[in-house]
Amino acid sequence: MIRIDCPYCGPRDEVEFAYRGDATVRRPSADAPADAFYDYVYTRRNPRGWHVEWWHHAAGCRQFLKVVRHTMTHEVRQVAPATTVVDVPSE
Ligand SMILES: [Zn+2]
Repeated sequence: MIRIDCPYCGPRDEVEFAYRGDATVRRPSADAPADAFYDYVYTRRNPRGWHVEWWHHAAGCRQFLKVVRHTMTHEVRQVAPATTVVDVPSE
């Protein structure tokens, strides 16, 4: 069980949240080639280690959050509001 410390509600169990994907993907500019949009929609990394993810607190405040989670241990290092700039830790 992952515990996510929502900045609005406090620590909650993972079951209250919905995973919403990779938070490091950026939408290409409107004049970008089709390959850039293909990668934006379909291509995802599968990192082993720290990853910045979108989580939606669906059964709580309904806010989108950025969560820094280790993909092997499920340790959560940081939880921030959606507008916060969050870097992927090197270790
Ligand atoms: Zn919340």
